Amino acid sequence: MNPLWTQQLAGLTEKGKQLLDDWWLQNKDKCKTLLAKTGVVPGMLSVLCLSAALQLTNQWQVVVDGKVLGAVKDPAVITSFVEELNTANKADYESASLLNEVKIARSHGIAVMPAEELKLVLADTLEWGIDGAVITIGDQEVVALADVSSAQSVIESLKDKVKEQLTRLYKNFNIVSIDIKEELAVVEKPVAISELVDEQTATAMLLSTRRPQQRAIVSRSYNRSVPEAPTVAAESAEQALVNIEAKVEVTETKTVPYKTEYVNDSSLYKGEKKTVTKGQNGTDEIVTLVTLVNGEVVDSQVKSITRTKEPVNQVIKQGTKIPVVSGSGRFVWPTQGTISSRYGYRWGKMHQAIDIAAAAGTAIVAADSGVVTYAGWRGDYGLMVEIDHGNGYVTRYGHCSQVLVSKGAKVTRGQLIAKVGRTGNATGNHLHFEVIYQGAHKDPLSFLR
Ligand SMILES: [Zn+2]
Repeated sequence: MNPLWTQQLAGLTEKGKQLLDDWWLQNKDKCKTLLAKTGVVPGMLSVLCLSAALQLTNQWQVVVDGKVLGAVKDPAVITSFVEELNTANKADYESASLLNEVKIARSHGIAVMPAEELKLVLADTLEWGIDGAVITIGDQEVVALADVSSAQSVIESLKDKVKEQLTRLYKNFNIVSIDIKEELAVVEKPVAISELVDEQTATAMLLSTRRPQQRAIVSRSYNRSVPEAPTVAAESAEQALVNIEAKVEVTETKTVPYKTEYVNDSSLYKGEKKTVTKGQNGTDEIVTLVTLVNGEVVDSQVKSITRTKEPVNQVIKQGTKIPVVSGSGRFVWPTQGTISSRYGYRWGKMHQAIDIAAAAGTAIVAADSGVVTYAGWRGDYGLMVEIDHGNGYVTRYGHCSQVLVSKGAKVTRGQLIAKVGRTGNATGNHLHFEVIYQGAHKDPLSFLR
């Protein structure tokens, strides 16, 4: 029996004395250990009798770090509960020790609460500490781990984490450098179990741009094997605790699209297309020096672009040939009348046509089938029609009073195309009729029989 206790216990009931004795036997080792420990804030679990002279009551108040948590009838329930917690923590961490000072003392005047309720309050209040380690950045302690080796491996894992991020971001890259900007250190020191995080969480905390809340409020449980993950404060998006700058050379292949060239081809009809060369895309290899901080790109500079494959332009021939209704090569008289002027020199000037005099409004027909290539006013011709017969022959009909076809129209031999008149340079109503073969004028009479 502790002599201090003997003194304090004077005046207690036999039952109370027995309780305290039992408790002391159960807890004295722990009390001594806690008191002997350096570094850890010495916790203390003791039962005090405030005054032997006090009226003896059958209730006990539980005081943690000087603050009364509540009162119960049976202090043994509380002491054994604290011991249970202690055992559970020790099972997880050999060096675990209570950080709070717990006193159980006689009390009166405080309403007694159910022991189970007080247990919950205690579980939330009491903290155990261990000989752990903290990672420091400069003189700031940023994260607590169970031991020095865990803390060291967290620091070592930071660069690996960055490499992982890079692998997710790029297919083909070379790491130029990875630098941790901050001065990180591991300090061995006592830490509260509730502050401990596992290595993975510690790594995430150090790299995250979001700060974990200073202290997550969680109800403690016996089972401490899984440390609580820090709750992330949603609103703060500050700079990360640790900034890791990675410089990487990223190689990317980019498609160089082919171009399409159109080449006119007179052997193809207008609207017809023919692919002569099929287009093929080329490729460029682009090497970019990318600087990332914690996986975020902060700078990017193209170092080189190498054409690894030239694109092949697509070549498409497009037709220009106007489709014609091919003429027969035989001509009909384009109008009814009398020849007023023949092909040849006339007053010292070459007349490249025949003139057929007829009354105004007399029908003019196509001498052969073909496509109208001109229909309208044309200088000295006045109103005229030009027909391409598609076989090398072109015919012209001048001085018309009226043109009845339009450019592009297909006409057949003998089809009405215009009416006789005296438009343009003409002295009387007549048809000026020309025959052109492969660009050269011919005497129309040699075709008309
Ligand atoms: Zn003429």
